Amino acid sequence: MFNFRKKNIGIDLGTANTNVYMEGKGIVVGEPSVIAKDIKKDHVVAVGEEARNMIGRTPGSITAIRPMKEGVIADFDTTASMMKYFIERAVGNTASKPVVMVCVPGGGTEVEKRAILDATRMAGAKEAYLIEEPFAAAIGAGLPVMDPTGSMVVDIGGGTTDVATISLGGIVSSRTIKMAGDRMDEAIIQYIRKKYKLLIGERTAEQVKKELGCASIEEADENDTTDIRGRDMLTGLPKTIEITAVDVAEAIQEVIEGIIAAVKETLEKTSPEISADVIDRGIVITGGGALLKNISDVISKATEVPVFIADDPLNCVAIGTGESLKHLDVYRKQARR
Ligand code: ADP
Ligand code: MG
Repeated sequence: MFNFRKKNIGIDLGTANTNVYMEGKGIVVGEPSVIAKDIKKDHVVAVGEEARNMIGRTPGSITAIRPMKEGVIADFDTTASMMKYFIERAVGNTASKPVVMVCVPGGGTEVEKRAILDATRMAGAKEAYLIEEPFAAAIGAGLPVMDPTGSMVVDIGGGTTDVATISLGGIVSSRTIKMAGDRMDEAIIQYIRKKYKLLIGERTAEQVKKELGCASIEEADENDTTDIRGRDMLTGLPKTIEITAVDVAEAIQEVIEGIIAAVKETLEKTSPEISADVIDRGIVITGGGALLKNISDVISKATEVPVFIADDPLNCVAIGTGESLKHLDVYRKQARR
């Protein structure tokens, strides 16, 4: 017999990337959380990678939007259209609708959470449930979230960094700050503007961060350089300059310090038992920011706790969200309460 039951999916609705996990298959979609719309005709022009390439390059009538910027739904309808596209990409455009588990960044209000559930149903889910990001990240990173032992996870995404301690299947303490990858990109733009009088775009800044970025100024290598293109502020003309890894490390330092402060504050709020567990087991970093060079070392040095990078950090949240579909009965019960 064929099994025609629709596969359930887990969606990590990130500020930078949306990843979809399908039961029995794993990650089936991974694309930037961007949608391009024709405002005059009110229709969707492109979604995902294709839409991202349009940022900063659209003609008057088309806008490329990141609807989840900073971890909240900036624009409800736009988020719903984006999710609809990703759900269709994952399950195909068929009549039977999937059950969807959605992961939202921490720190959202009840109103925002309800808005995400509504957007998910509007996007074609039969039933929709929410899982909190640090919890999903911890599951995806393979931490023993159900055990009576404290785990600490730091998810450094695009718009937010979520820090949380978890024990016995729940979040014990958490903190969300709006300092993560996007802020690093902005800091690089400001730095290059001030030091070299060159205006660069967001995409260029992000590329430079990925290529040369290093969380520690001391560890950054002066000989590690790259050429970047932008507009000279004095002549107004295009110009190419060479920048070093030290430039990038200096530029993003403020954001790194913000992340370290959030980790320290969360540790300070933690009970002695959980602190002891975290010292024993270490802190795990997930999210795209985990790929920044030296990030584990600087956090470890500042907190005197061992720090590890999760396997596949960009996909941890989606994997954890998908895994939680195994416990749908629990989520259904909670939703009825
Ligand atoms: P979100 O969950 O908010 O969508 P992600 O976990 O997908 O965010 O991470 C996206 C962020 O990670 C972006 O800001 C991106 O620039 C950053 N990132 C990706 N790869 C690297 C890298 N190699 N070094 C530094 N930052 C990176
Ligand atoms: Mg994320």
